[in-house]
Amino acid sequence: MQYGYGYGYYPPGPWSTNPIYYGAPIPQFPGPDNEWSRTLLQFPRDSSPQFTPPSAPVLKRLKYSESRFQDIASKFRESWLHTDRKLANIGFIYDCQVDETLWYDYREYSERVGNTQAPLWHGTSRKCTLGDDPSNAELCHNSDCSLCQIIKTGYKTGHARSSGLLGSGIYTTTVSSKAAKYATTSKKSKYNVVLYNIVAVGRRYNATGPMKNASSPPPGYNSVYGNPGVTSLGPGKRSLQFIETCIYDDNAIEPLYMVLFTEE
Ligand SMILES: [Zn+2]
Repeated sequence: MQYGYGYGYYPPGPWSTNPIYYGAPIPQFPGPDNEWSRTLLQFPRDSSPQFTPPSAPVLKRLKYSESRFQDIASKFRESWLHTDRKLANIGFIYDCQVDETLWYDYREYSERVGNTQAPLWHGTSRKCTLGDDPSNAELCHNSDCSLCQIIKTGYKTGHARSSGLLGSGIYTTTVSSKAAKYATTSKKSKYNVVLYNIVAVGRRYNATGPMKNASSPPPGYNSVYGNPGVTSLGPGKRSLQFIETCIYDDNAIEPLYMVLFTEE
């Protein structure tokens, strides 16, 4: 069975052909956030009838000549909006295939919240050199290596940064340079790593102020959207410079691609 909006093949089973839509229309935001649209979610891997989720995570390097490499690299460059950080080079991009349990959990969750999905970046810490050597892209066993942990066992809200303006959730963004701020790496590597994810945003709550103590979205919502300038701690205090979206459920996000890059 294939849905019409491009996310791809679903296995037979509990998937509804009539996803539940929440009443409000999906708002359109200026700039990169116009990506909030199901129809733009084209992920060739999943839409291949040959694709079945693996039993253990798989990383596959995309060739530079592949259209997926070009597409993701362009998105990464176009959404690099910080003028005080300069992207130097995109070294490698990997197709990250999570195991079948995570794959099904994400799709089940997404179905539950109306299949409103968005492709969003997330920067995390890497303690190993995963991806530096394409012939040996093996996940490490260091439990402090957030990158390998995410690919192996999924995102965990339990590891969320508690200092976030939108509470203890998983932070994602349409702005690649914002995700890059949170990408730290092993001293042995010249690359930083950002993950490109599919996120089941469901019904989004537009934050009107800080929500530092939140551990879930307000009742009736599935995610919280922080708009630049809107979410502020008051005059003279820190406010969001760039868009971010916070989710509070481990199953609401799946990493799809891993981008290795350098900054000037
Ligand atoms: Zn690692």
